[in-house]
Amino acid sequence: MSEGQATQPAGLLAKDPYELRVDQAADVTESAVRTALKTGDVGFLHSFTTGSTVDGPGVRVVAWTAGCQWRCLYCHNPDTWNMMNGMPVKLERAVDEVSKYRRGLKVMSGGLTISGGEALMQDRFVIRLFTAVKKLGVHTALDTNGYLGDRLTDEELKQVDLVILDLKTWDPERHIYLTSKPVEPTLNFARRLAQKGRPLWVRYVVVPGLTDDEDDINHTAAFAAGLGNVQRVDVLPFHQMGRYKWKKLGLDYQLDDVQPPPIELVQRVCEQFRAVGLKTY
Ligand code: SF4
Repeated sequence: MSEGQATQPAGLLAKDPYELRVDQAADVTESAVRTALKTGDVGFLHSFTTGSTVDGPGVRVVAWTAGCQWRCLYCHNPDTWNMMNGMPVKLERAVDEVSKYRRGLKVMSGGLTISGGEALMQDRFVIRLFTAVKKLGVHTALDTNGYLGDRLTDEELKQVDLVILDLKTWDPERHIYLTSKPVEPTLNFARRLAQKGRPLWVRYVVVPGLTDDEDDINHTAAFAAGLGNVQRVDVLPFHQMGRYKWKKLGLDYQLDDVQPPPIELVQRVCEQFRAVGLKTY
């Protein structure tokens, strides 16, 4: 991208993840990145945000990681696809950042959520950060597409109090069309979490014309209900807040003409999840 296409923010804290952030790791060498990924000593973060009430229970600090292998057509934060757009942050600094808020998080029944991008691209950093903040009494939630769930051992999964799993579609072909990757690893991760009895929330984004097929949602809902560990489903209406990022990054955005779903459609999708016994929000 050319100069001046993005505003370059100064600090780790952002108002929200819709700030466009690029090239924050431009000075980091490839071998330093490889070492960081192997050890988890350093993470590459788009930003930290505070005060979230939509990324897990209570009020939460959210660490937004950089790096994602998927290319979802309706991704809101394509600047997080490239790990080098993330700011290199030492593990100790990330722990300190969360630690500043730990008392407030406890009072507000919240915790730390690590989201992305795809957080498990940096599995060593994520698990070390979770392990450290859990020792401080902070609740941990992992917001993930589940594709790299195999990177975590069963023992490491115990450091994750809650997994928030983004389900895009049940249909294998449609999944590849929507995300560029197969659905099976995500479903397998969900099955594994169920087998281990780990708490799970599901996220489902309603995009008119892309993820509103009634039959497909029925399959997705039946799968989620069959797991037995899904505590709630967050049904989220698509919005266009990320569109400007696609444009600024020079990416081909195919959803220019897609409107946010009407309330009736969102209600219908909620109803479909409720019909199989799941709670929706
Ligand atoms: S998985 Fe998330 S971060 Fe990755 S492309 Fe899809 S929506 Fe974007």
